[in-house]
Amino acid sequence: MTEPGTGSDLRGIRTSARPDGEDWILNGQKTFISSGMMADLVIVAARTDPDAGSRGFSLLVVERDMPGFTRGRKLDKIGLPAQDTAELYFEDVRVPADNVVGLPGTGLQQLMSHLPRERLGVTAMAIATSRAIFDLTRDYCFDRRAFGKPIGDFQHIRFELAEMATEIDVAEAYVDRSVRAYNAGELTPVDAAKGKWFVSELQKRVVDRCLQLHGGYGYMKEYPVGRAYVDTRIQTIYGGTTEIMKELIGRDLASKGRD
Ligand SMILES: Cc1cc2nc3c(=O)[nH]c(=O)nc-3n(C[C@H](O)[C@H](O)[C@H](O)COP(=O)(O)OP(=O)(O)OC[C@H]3O[C@@H](n4cnc5c(N)ncnc54)[C@H](O)[C@@H]3O)c2cc1C
Repeated sequence: MTEPGTGSDLRGIRTSARPDGEDWILNGQKTFISSGMMADLVIVAARTDPDAGSRGFSLLVVERDMPGFTRGRKLDKIGLPAQDTAELYFEDVRVPADNVVGLPGTGLQQLMSHLPRERLGVTAMAIATSRAIFDLTRDYCFDRRAFGKPIGDFQHIRFELAEMATEIDVAEAYVDRSVRAYNAGELTPVDAAKGKWFVSELQKRVVDRCLQLHGGYGYMKEYPVGRAYVDTRIQTIYGGTTEIMKELIGRDLASKGRD
């Protein structure tokens, strides 16, 4: 989906494909594509009818060896070092009609229908990371000593831990509810958006506070909390930013408020 000039606003996609006999000729560029370096297949969102508005996008499957498909450098991120993130280039790539996913013109609608699942994935990772980093921080606080006692015995630190334990438990109930709704085919885009922004922002707060409780050791890459700190930062950005999630929720509220 994402291009150098557009990420949040999918309607700004400029990569385009024009029909040529039974095929499509694809031109354009994508960026920030997860696993883009190692992927054998990429599904490209492209504009296929400039006059059809939101019905003018299609999803085209591009295969590794198709002439005109190249990859740029592996992007150098501040976190998630094990995951490759790539730039992709398409120059007159001939894509057969069989490689169009679903019907031409339904690309945006297909993306919209699957984004709740992607967002739930980010949400699940957010709650799991929050709990894992919290658990090891709790143990650290009752092991590390200062002023003659475990730092967890200072009231301030116990309150920090108590607040985080509460927030994680409360958020986890929402995540569990969302997973059950997803499994029943009932997770709405708005409910997925609520979980995505709230739990990823919670993860950011929890990991930051846990790093603080580790003191200088938290800043060392050999400690999981230090690595989690940089890996966490992307969670409120990819899969749709916190601001865009609030837009989705806000638009829904506005439409209900005006009914
Ligand atoms: C590591 C990584 C992996 C990624 N993987 C993928 C992938 O596999 N596939 C893919 O397609 N994309 C991927 N992305 C892209 C990611 O989804 C986008 O970066 C994200 O959607 C934001 O788009 P943008 O970077 O263009 O920011 P912009 O859209 O330019 O936004 C910039 C800022 O403006 C804010 N903003 C924009 N519009 C509004 C508004 N209406 N109201 C208020 N604030 C607004 C945003 O919230 C943000 O804070 C990845 C990104 C990264 C960094």
